Amino acid sequence: MPGFELFGSAERKEVHDVLETGVLMRYGFDGMRNSHWKAKELESELSNVLQSDYVQLVSSGTAAVSVALAAAGVGAGDEVIMPTFTFVASFEAIMMLGAIPVLVDIDDTLALSPKAVEEAITPKTKAIMIVQMCGSMGDMSALQDISKRHDLLLIEDACQAIGGSYQGKPLGSIGDLGCFSFDFVKTVTCGEGGAVITSNKNYYTHADHYSDHGHDHIGLDRGVETHPFLGYNFRISELHAAVGLAQVRRLPEFLSIQKANHNILRTALSEIPEVTFRTVPDGGVESYAFLSFFLPDLELARKASKSLKEAGVDGCFHYYDNNWHYVRKWEHLKELKSLYPIAAEVKTGLEYLKTKTFVKSDHYIGRNISCLIKLSWTEAEVKERAKKMVKAIKDTLIVA
Ligand SMILES: *Cc1c(COP(=O)(O)O)cnc(C)c1O
Repeated sequence: MPGFELFGSAERKEVHDVLETGVLMRYGFDGMRNSHWKAKELESELSNVLQSDYVQLVSSGTAAVSVALAAAGVGAGDEVIMPTFTFVASFEAIMMLGAIPVLVDIDDTLALSPKAVEEAITPKTKAIMIVQMCGSMGDMSALQDISKRHDLLLIEDACQAIGGSYQGKPLGSIGDLGCFSFDFVKTVTCGEGGAVITSNKNYYTHADHYSDHGHDHIGLDRGVETHPFLGYNFRISELHAAVGLAQVRRLPEFLSIQKANHNILRTALSEIPEVTFRTVPDGGVESYAFLSFFLPDLELARKASKSLKEAGVDGCFHYYDNNWHYVRKWEHLKELKSLYPIAAEVKTGLEYLKTKTFVKSDHYIGRNISCLIKLSWTEAEVKERAKKMVKAIKDTLIVA
């Protein structure tokens, strides 16, 4: 990732189709659109790729999470369990619905710890949301088991994991609903966009209506269609869908490049005894969008991250010190810095964050470095990079 590195004639052709007709809206305008339905085509491609009965495109990955939760009836005062290591979008999307994000520890998979999830369940819990950060997953079987036993929804945020799988099933298609992002840096990009996938027809119908002001989409003029329930505008445009359509058709090509590049870097780092890798559960296949590894302790990880930067190795993240992806720096959430009043039950529901510590998450994220795997590197560039990484990390360990 990201897919924009390889933009070419396929993307241009799809966008050109849309500009030729001038129909930028995904619904209606049947007479004008010269049979171009880019959003519909992209939904059908994704349905094949993700082996999922229903796909609803939306305007972003963040919107996908809100729409998925809303489609399954999660709202005011409901608790949604989510990991401490993710992207700020996770709690934003939950709070937009008046629901309460309940943050719990991750484990050595860098995803939700099933044990921590089980301990966090209360009578208010409605959903467990696993986030498949950096292209890999947690113990999906254990999470499925917990969600069944407690009658909870299992939602997958697979925004960074398109192309990964678990026991033969694409990530995103395992829980009740799966969410994807096609924003400007994702493996498949269309600028801004996202998708909700599900095999539940009701959830799909809800997502379809909810993401377009509650429209029933029965094919009448928009002024005549009815609104079975309240909705919002989370639509994707035809222009964005056109780019995504070209990109998703190239996914096999992108994945094989990611895998090859990942393999070269991982093999090189395996020479260093102090370096260990993120655990991938049995039956799991990563999307290889990142290479995630551990140093022996926090200070060594900090130093290694610094030496990697100094050696000119870009795209490696020590998330412990990052503002976007880890609970430690989410002051705006902990202090509830909202532009507008927040419901009392959400305020109360988030009190725990002022004092709660996440010792296990600190242990794993503190030692972790995750490096983005790019699509545009030549083989020589990856090999050069591998050498620089090994040297930078070894130098760090020797000095220590
Ligand atoms: C990118 C991302 C999102 C949000 O997607 P946007 O399309 O940028 O709104 C949500 N979750 C994860 C894990 C992401 O990486």
